[in-house]
Amino acid sequence: MANEIKPSWLVEDLRHLGVGYNKVEDFAPPPESSHGALFMQDRIKKGYHVEEVKDGLYWVTSGWYDCMFIRTGAGVVVMDAPPALGENLLAAIEETTDEPVTHFIYSHWHADHVGAAVIFGDKVKRIGHEKTRDLLERFPDPNRPVPNETFSKDATLDINGVKIELSYKGQNHCEGNIFIYVPKPKVLAAIDIASPGWITFRDCDSSENMSGYVDAFDQVLAYDFDTVISGHVSKIGGRDAVVEGREYMHDLVDYSREALETIDFEYFVKQLGTGKYRAAFRAIEENYFNACANFVTKKILDKVTSNGKKWTERLNGADVMTKHNAFYVVEKTRLERHHNGYVKRGNIHPPKFYF
Ligand SMILES: [Zn+2]
Repeated sequence: MANEIKPSWLVEDLRHLGVGYNKVEDFAPPPESSHGALFMQDRIKKGYHVEEVKDGLYWVTSGWYDCMFIRTGAGVVVMDAPPALGENLLAAIEETTDEPVTHFIYSHWHADHVGAAVIFGDKVKRIGHEKTRDLLERFPDPNRPVPNETFSKDATLDINGVKIELSYKGQNHCEGNIFIYVPKPKVLAAIDIASPGWITFRDCDSSENMSGYVDAFDQVLAYDFDTVISGHVSKIGGRDAVVEGREYMHDLVDYSREALETIDFEYFVKQLGTGKYRAAFRAIEENYFNACANFVTKKILDKVTSNGKKWTERLNGADVMTKHNAFYVVEKTRLERHHNGYVKRGNIHPPKFYF
């Protein structure tokens, strides 16, 4: 590092106005159980790794973005086309079959998972949730053509006897994010929900609805599946990976509720004083939320979990990401799930009621 020239774009002196940078040696060594194709360079040196899970269903990974396709004997059904795989996804399919791609399924509308959907041309049937269609009509992208077959709750495809069940159980990670279940090989795609061996990305994978995101783990486990495809982390997982992710989420929710019930906002309000900073509400508001996030983060990282290990020994990145997930779950709990009563007539609103 000593000889490295600092890039001109690197801003690192913003102190309290900015955010800091990590040193890898400050963190716990990532658990070996999290090592997927990303750490097996021989697997992804051609830009992709393709592997049959079972019964003609294939998992493809770029080393960081994952998707799947199914051979039906009458054409290939593809689910998702991350730009990180791009046209390498065509190579992966051609490596395993001469069948043409006939169907494309959108798990959800996010560009990082379907931003190469255009590579299959205009002859394929494009299937997605009606909210995915609405979003892609509202925010058009030539690389993400609008689905031409949509559904609102559940749909079953039967292509040459291969059944694929699509289900929308409400907003979680985003509107229109569906579960895609293939019963014969017992494979379930739960994109941006499951995260085998890894901590969920910051803000619980940028999820729009925390309550829906937490519920999604139970919805996943209600399926009779052996393999889950998550869209990320360059590895597939089993039921135990989803159970593990659910336990981490429940810890976050429980400790966030405890933080909201324990931490005294008035402690921070007093810091405003009566002088020229008396209206610096945003500053103490941030201190309050930081206190909540630190409270949750410490509880999570100190906890001896259900199998006797700490979260940093179970999930890759637990120490890096927990503070972001803690802030997110505290804030979403306050908005979606928390209830501290309301001001009664004639009273003023002490902060514990305000929050
Ligand atoms: Zn997404």
